[in-house]
Amino acid sequence: MKPSEKWPEMLLVWFSDHKRDLPWREAKPRNPYHVWISEIMLQQTRTEAVKPYFHSWMEKFPTIHDLAMASEAEVLHQWQGLGYYSRARNIHKAAREMEEKYGAELPHDKEEIRALPGIGGYTAGAILSMAYGQKEGAIDGNVLRVYARLYDVEEDILKSKGKKIISSLVEKTIPERAGDFNEALMDLGSDVCIPKSPRCGHCPLSAECLAFEKGLQERLPLRTKKKPQLVCEAACGIIMKEGKVLLHKRPSKGMLASMWEFPMVLSESVETSRAGLEALLQGKAEELVWKYKHTFTHRIWLMKAYTLKDGVVPEGGYRWFTPEEYKEIPLAGPHARLAAFAEKLLREEGDF
Ligand code: SF4
Repeated sequence: MKPSEKWPEMLLVWFSDHKRDLPWREAKPRNPYHVWISEIMLQQTRTEAVKPYFHSWMEKFPTIHDLAMASEAEVLHQWQGLGYYSRARNIHKAAREMEEKYGAELPHDKEEIRALPGIGGYTAGAILSMAYGQKEGAIDGNVLRVYARLYDVEEDILKSKGKKIISSLVEKTIPERAGDFNEALMDLGSDVCIPKSPRCGHCPLSAECLAFEKGLQERLPLRTKKKPQLVCEAACGIIMKEGKVLLHKRPSKGMLASMWEFPMVLSESVETSRAGLEALLQGKAEELVWKYKHTFTHRIWLMKAYTLKDGVVPEGGYRWFTPEEYKEIPLAGPHARLAAFAEKLLREEGDF
């Protein structure tokens, strides 16, 4: 009956030869702070993209104590470009809580770890198994996919029934070397048992895998269709004055909270967003100088930036910045790209 109880061991043997070299795996024994930060960065972000962020993060905040002492603006600035900024805010809050309650260390207790902001079951399992040697599973998208294929689970793995089935399979199969096992699953899921066209010919588990036996590897895991993303036109204004541009601080709650952006109006059409921007800044949007499509999880911004020669600074949260100054503040997602473009514009205009 497939898969046999030998497969976890087979996976560990494969892992000893195929383990990826990753910066957060370098410390021996494993550093719980490194495991935590890397796992949060890796949520929604590719491994290659995370590497430079991880290095510069550890240079800036080498310990949980250093992180707890930093300001929120410093933390957000360090995170800039990784997106999903609530992750950075939660990391910061969690570091402060650890500083206060646990001597600036990650606790060893599952409930205590899970009570920290932004740490869910997966991250807690990763820290406890990899850094503290506890027999805990760490179930992320890779693990759900590998198990769904290995055991031919024909339930939607993003729904609670599918997740429950897989979590009970993980509990039954997890070996003593849980940390290595969890990492081996991650490596298998990211290099071999990949979402599209899994590389079954290179898989150490192909002889054990039900999906491979039945030819279902391309069809599994099952997923119900996601809701379509909301598409918005985003008109942005570039107003320059004496080598500076006008920026706006977003509200302290909601999407991209407390981050800085170019004056922007979201609407359903190019015309209405542009008209809204002109009304906001009481000036004429002269020339379309920059376009960019930014995709968030549930929405898409079709960004268009216009230069405005004159205009009035609106009330509330607007300030002038030089490029030197705005490199030191947290810019809201795609606005960091627009800021790089605006810097070139300032140079060309000789206004800088
Ligand atoms: S045999 Fe193919 S589908 Fe099965 S675990 Fe390996 S890569 Fe995934």
